[in-house]
This record gives sequence, C-alpha cells and structure tokens, in this order.
Amino acid sequence: MGETTKDTTALLLKDIVKVYGDGENGVKALKGINLSFRKSEFVSVLGPSGCGKTTLLNIVGGLDRYTTGDLIINGVSTKEYKDGDWDTYRNDSVGFVFQSYNLISHQTVLSNVELALTLSGVSNAERKKRAKDVLERVGLKDQAYKRPNQLSGGQMQRVAIARALVNDPDIILADEPTGALDTETSLQVMEILKEISADRLVIMVTHNPDLAKKYSTRIINLLDGEVTGDTDPLDVNEKENAEKPVKINGNREKESKPRKKKSAMNLFTAFALSFSNLRTKKGRTTLTSIAGSIGIIGIALVLAVSTGFSAYINELQADTLSTYPLTITEATIDLSDFEKLTSDVISDDNAAERVKNKVYVKGMFDELTNMLKSNKLSEEYIKYVEDYVDEKNKAAEKGDWAYCLKRGYGFDANDYIFTELKYNLTANGNINRNVMSINTFVQMMEYLFNEGLKYSNMNISAEFVRNYIPTVCEIPESRELIASQYEMLYGDWANGWDEMLLVVDRNYRVTDITLAVLGYKAINGLDGYNVTFDGTDSIDFQEIVNKKFYYIDNTVRYVYKENVFGTNFVSSMYAGEGSSTFLSPVPESAHPLKVTGIVRLKDDVQQGVLKTGLAYTSEFVKHILTDEGNLNSPIVRATDGSVNEDGTRVYDSVSVINPLINMEGIIKKYVNSAADVKWKTISYTRRALGGDDTVSKLSIYSRDYRAKEEIKTYLKAWNDKQTNEENIVHYSDSTAMLFSAMNSIVDAVKIVLIAFTAISLVVSSIMIGIITYVSVVERTKEIGVLRSLGARKKDISRIFNAETFLIGFFAGLIGVAVSYLLTIPINMIFAHFVSGATAIAVLKITDAMLLVTVSFVLTIIAGIIPSRIASKKDPVVALRTE
Ligand code: ADP
Ligand code: MG
Repeated sequence: MGETTKDTTALLLKDIVKVYGDGENGVKALKGINLSFRKSEFVSVLGPSGCGKTTLLNIVGGLDRYTTGDLIINGVSTKEYKDGDWDTYRNDSVGFVFQSYNLISHQTVLSNVELALTLSGVSNAERKKRAKDVLERVGLKDQAYKRPNQLSGGQMQRVAIARALVNDPDIILADEPTGALDTETSLQVMEILKEISADRLVIMVTHNPDLAKKYSTRIINLLDGEVTGDTDPLDVNEKENAEKPVKINGNREKESKPRKKKSAMNLFTAFALSFSNLRTKKGRTTLTSIAGSIGIIGIALVLAVSTGFSAYINELQADTLSTYPLTITEATIDLSDFEKLTSDVISDDNAAERVKNKVYVKGMFDELTNMLKSNKLSEEYIKYVEDYVDEKNKAAEKGDWAYCLKRGYGFDANDYIFTELKYNLTANGNINRNVMSINTFVQMMEYLFNEGLKYSNMNISAEFVRNYIPTVCEIPESRELIASQYEMLYGDWANGWDEMLLVVDRNYRVTDITLAVLGYKAINGLDGYNVTFDGTDSIDFQEIVNKKFYYIDNTVRYVYKENVFGTNFVSSMYAGEGSSTFLSPVPESAHPLKVTGIVRLKDDVQQGVLKTGLAYTSEFVKHILTDEGNLNSPIVRATDGSVNEDGTRVYDSVSVINPLINMEGIIKKYVNSAADVKWKTISYTRRALGGDDTVSKLSIYSRDYRAKEEIKTYLKAWNDKQTNEENIVHYSDSTAMLFSAMNSIVDAVKIVLIAFTAISLVVSSIMIGIITYVSVVERTKEIGVLRSLGARKKDISRIFNAETFLIGFFAGLIGVAVSYLLTIPINMIFAHFVSGATAIAVLKITDAMLLVTVSFVLTIIAGIIPSRIASKKDPVVALRTE
C-alpha cells in the first residue's frame, strides 16, 4: 500500500470474515469484506435484515472481533490489538449511535453525554463545558438536566449523537439511527449526521434508500455477508481526499491528537454511576441494606453485650478481688488440690493391670496431708513481695492502684479497742454503761448464736457468725483502693494510729448488732438466747464522731494472780447473777481513739473491701506491736521465757482464765526441761497477744484479674529460684477457679453467639450477591453502552463493586445505628434487674467502625462474582439484549 492510501484512508477492511459459533453450526455473518473508508465521508450501508450490517459496524467500531482478515486503522494493523487497545480505540476514535438510543436512564442528559469523557478521565469542569457545547450543537441545550425518559424519540437520538460526538471521534457509527423515528425527526437527525460528516467518517446503516441517497456521499450495498455494490469506492491512488480542504466544524484539531492514552475510569466516576443507579431504586436499596444490616446488628449486639459484660465482670472482679485477696499464711491448704481428691487423678499407675475381681485401695490420706503446706514467710520473701507491689503501684496511673498489701501478725486488734456499751441486762431495768472490749462483746454474740443453734442440729462455726457480725476491720494501706470504692460522707480520712472510720453500706446502714457492739445502740434484754435492742433507727453523724473509743494495752487487760492471768473484764453472766463487773471507770492508761469520718460504699461497687462498722488503720496494728506498755506487760513477758537471776523462770507456771475468749489452757504450766517442746505453742500465744511482729499472713489485693495473674506469676518465680524445699511458699486463692471459669464461659458464649450471627451475615452477603447479579442482568444494556463508549472490563466490574460497596456501607451504617439505639433499652432492662450495675451493652466506636468495614468487605466479596460476570459480558451481546 502506498503513501497516499495512508494519508487519505481512515479505515481499511481486508478480507474480513466473521463467523458466529464454530464448526458446522457456525453462522458466517461476513464472508470476506474488502472496503476502505476515507477520513471524511458519509457512507450509508444498505441491505436486507440479517445481511451482516450491524456485524460490520461492530467490527469497524472495535466492539466485535473479526474472525479472519485484518482491519487497518490509520495504516496500522489491528491483528495484534489487545483488549486495552480496542477500549482506547472505541473511547477516542469511535462514536456509536444506536437505533434504540441506548441512553442510561438513571443519568441526566448531561451525564449521559459526559460519559465518554468521564471514561477517558477528563476533568469535571472541562467535561461539563464540552458536553454542553455538543448538546448545543444538536439543539438540546435546554434539556441538559432532564432524564432520557422525559424526552421524545428524536431528542433522545440527538442526545445519543451528542454522546457519540463529545469525544470528538474520527468515526461515527450509526446503526439505523432513524429506524425508530418519524419522517420529520429522521430528517433532523440526518441533517446533523450530514453536518458532522463534513470533517469525519460517518458510517450509517439504514433500511431507507431514499435517506441514504439524499444525505450520504457513498452507498454500500450488502447482501448475505458480501459487498454487492459501492457507489464511490476508494481508489488506492486517490488524491482527492488529501487535497480536499478539511472543513473545520467548530474548533476541530484532528490529526495531531495523541491516540495512545488508555481510557480509564476513576473510582469516583464508578461511585457516582453506582450511586445514581441506586438512587433510582431507593426502595430496593433500602430493603437490601436493611436485610444486610441484620447480621451486623447481631454481631454488634453480641460485641456490645460482651464488652459491657466484660466491663461488668471486671468491675465485679475488682470488687471481689479486693474482698477476697490472695493470701499467704504460715500454714495453708491448696484449694485447687481438692479437685484431685474427688477425681481419678490420684496416681493410678497400675490401672491397666487391674483384675476385676477385687476392690483396690485408692490412697487419699497422703494426698490430704500433702495438701497441707507450711510456708516460711521470711523477711526476704516479704521484701520480694513488697518490692513488686511498690513498683507496680508506682507505675499505676495517678489515683489508681495495682496491689494492696495487708500484713497479719496473728492477733486481733479488736481486742484492744474498748468502748462504753449501752446495755440493760439487770433486773431493775436500768441502762448500764460500762466500758468493754469490742471483741469480748462480739464473742458474747457468737456464743449466744452458737448456743441457740446447738439445739437445732446445725453446726455453725464461730468464724461463720463472725463474718455476719462485722464490727471493726483494718483499712488496707492503699488510699486509692479505698477511694475507688468509698465516698466520704462526713469528716476526714483516718490517718494516724488512733483514728478510725465508720463504714456504712450503700444505703447508709450499719446492722443493729454492729451498732450495739460499738455501743451506739442499747441492748434491752436477753431472753434465753434472744437479744432485743432499743428502738433507735438512726444515729446522727455528730453522735458517731463524738463517741469515745479507747486503746487499752495488755498490762491493763490481763492481771496476774497466783500463777493465773485473768482478764480484767469477766462477764457478769459468768461472774454471778445481777452483778456487772465490766471495766468501769475507764483506766487512766487508756488512750482515746477517734472516729474521724464516715464513708459509704459507692453505688457502682458491688462489694467493698471494708466491712460495715468501724475500721482502723494499719498504723494501729503497728502501734500495738511496738507499744512498750504492751510489750512489757506481764502476760507478754510470760511468753518470752524471761529468767530470774537464779535461773528459774519469771513466770514458772502460768494459765489464763478468760471464759469468753476461750483462751484458758493456751498458756499452760511449763517446766524448764520441757521448755523447748512447749515453745511453739508459747510463741503462737505470744503472737496472739501482739508480742511478736513476725508477719504470719500476707493478703494481696489486686486491682483486677489480670493483675492477680501477674503477681501469681511473680510469686511462682520466687519458688522456681528456691533450691531448698523449705523456702517454697504457697498462696491460696479462693476466687481463682471461679473467675477463670467465668471468663472462659463468657469467651465461649461470645464465640458461639458471634458464630451464629455470622451465619446471618453470610446469608445476607449471599443475598447481596444475588441482588447484585440481578442488577447486572438488569443493566446489561448499560454495560454494552459503556463498553461501546470505551469502558474497560475493569471499569465495568468497578461500577458493580462500587455498588456492592455502597450497599454494604449503608448496611453497616444502618446496622451500627440500630445497634446503638438497641443498647438503650437493653441497658435500661439490665439496670432494672441488676442494681448498681453500669451499662451492660456498650458498642465501642472501634467495634462499630470495624463492623461497617466488615459489612462492605463482605458485600464486595459477595459482589465479586456478579461483577466479574458483568465485566466479561460481550458488549455486542449486551447491546443486543432488550
Ligand atoms: P443486520 O444488522 O444486517 O440485520 P446482523 O449483523 O445483526 O444483521 O446479523 C448478521 C447475521 O449474523 C444474522 O444471520 C444473525 O442471525 C447472525 N448473528 C448476529 N449476531 C450473532 C450472534 N451473536 N450469534 C450468532 N449469530 C449471530
Ligand atoms: Mg442490524
């Protein structure tokens, strides 16, 4: 082919054959077409229906592929064209006009025209301008913002022409453009086509020979896939076209236009297209989104409740953990071992060899004795624990705490707190006021309980009763721990050794027994084992703070007489009828103790670390341990083995009489020779009297379960370092099993619930996939149009992906919003059943965002197959679908 051909020929078809289907069933639509087209002419293709006109046009327009032969575009063979090259060719060089207009119904006239520019990535402003210009050219400037279905047929076809023209293509391909129009509008359309053919190639397929003759410059007849006539075939050596002055219509700058750029739709366009499509189907989109949101709501609620529940459990744990600390005592039983006793775990190495005709022995006694562990609470060990607690507390946020350490010394500080009681146990009905140790009175109450219960076949230990008669307890050293659980109602915190707090429950109450024990309430009578109180039902803060309490040391408490130590305060009940020999008046050596403040359990705390009643400071305990009056008291010295100058014991033979505290016989007569044997008992007694500051018990309160686990690890690390078995220290943790079980149950339930709701999520995803597929089927025509305008396969799948993304996004938003709303009644219902509980359903922002993401990711996944189906659709087939 010569130079000239290259210059004047836009298109050259060389022996083009198109076969639909294959083998014997193949339909030969084109049977070797040889044609060339000038850069500027108006060609009409005439022929009966089914002769291959549309096929020819589609091949020329790069919408369909020829089976054999070659299509040469501007002198370049298309044999090696890739999909992308065809897309670019269609987008840049070809404009299609169809008989049925093929406008996109959910887009405005202007957007329809813009589409080809949109696909080639022209900026918004430029796009608008060019689209409006071209609309003006086809006389539709005023209709720009109408929808296609608001226009007449002729107007729609003019829009289609405008859309074909907007990209300023070299070739306009019109397939029966007037086929659906009346004569008058047909003429208008023909005029436009004629006009635009002045500077480009227009190939029009038509049934109408009159129109063809009137407007076109060349008529090609087609019959049965073969060219049967051509009124103006292009001479290979023709110079005419090259010389023909190119009439510039508008500001057309043709030949220099770069052709290599690939058409590309940006994501925004994909979203805009999908969004406008969804807008036309508001009902369906809403329903789909709601359906899709159900799974999200399910998971959101499970997450919300599990978050709230975890928070609730954590709170409960913090409360419970502070009420039930980790304890390390000199002798302990490992509770977790109990399980072993009842299970088959007890070593049974010979199980396999058993002959089943005998009863075998299961060794339990050794296991039981092994459970008893003795602990050496050495100074090093205590320091080891203290260091950790200090370090972690320093690391805790300001106002917060990690651990609180409480040391026990084997004596009860309650023994040393005295107060004036109000009671009326005398015959004459007078209310007596005598000073008595708080503990003595508590023990009286215990005694009464136990005596009463003896006859009812119930065995209840004094310890049990003691727990239900709270009186005076020690305030843990951590002010943060107390402040997190209690609010100050009146007065100030207790600071020094001689200051105390009164603790009331959430409802500002203290039990009658406790108030009686503390001398705030009068005991009116004792009938058998029944105690009756006076009618007082409330006490002023002022009165509580003003009440006098005393610290009285062992010198006063125990009197030594004829080898016997007796308490100074023997109950009248035992001393004889009608007498009242309680300590009165208050001895001079008594030191006043002051109630400095009243604290109340906070509303949101389930269980506090303090019992209701009085609470003393840990300094008070230390004071007892270091008080000279106490340490030098005869009874304490009786336990230290003091010897006289002649080598005999100072207290050679000692016993203690105190029927109420049942200490008789604890300090028994001992002799020098057997002293060592006896010393162990003696040393415990010494402790019980506050004469020994060796720590006998450590209680470690932890902020939460995690902190507790951490310190357990730390305590285990100590044991791992010990080479000597004796230095191994065992702790006991009564709440451990409970909480680890609770935590794992919550986790398990959460997983099961999420699994169930995930099923609904899967179901809704599949549904969205199906709906997307329906949408693909519905929009097949649109897919064809987009492809004819140069959209790549990728662009098509992008549009549908954008659509599923939007649906998933809406579904996620609806789901999260509904879930937020649902947490309100859920929390109200929960608050109704569990008092003092905080919100049980808390949807975290991060979870909400995660769920929206999950929602659209799932729907995108669900939409992948339908959108791939869409992108794989053959544009020719797509355009033929109605
Ligand atoms: P025209 O546009 O001239 O009416 P077409 O180009 O549409 O004719 O069709 C030419 C021939 O090719 C017809 O016999 C038609 O049935 C056949 N044909 C067109 N498209 C397909 C196809 N996708 N599969 C099989 N045959 C087809
Ligand atoms: Mg046709």
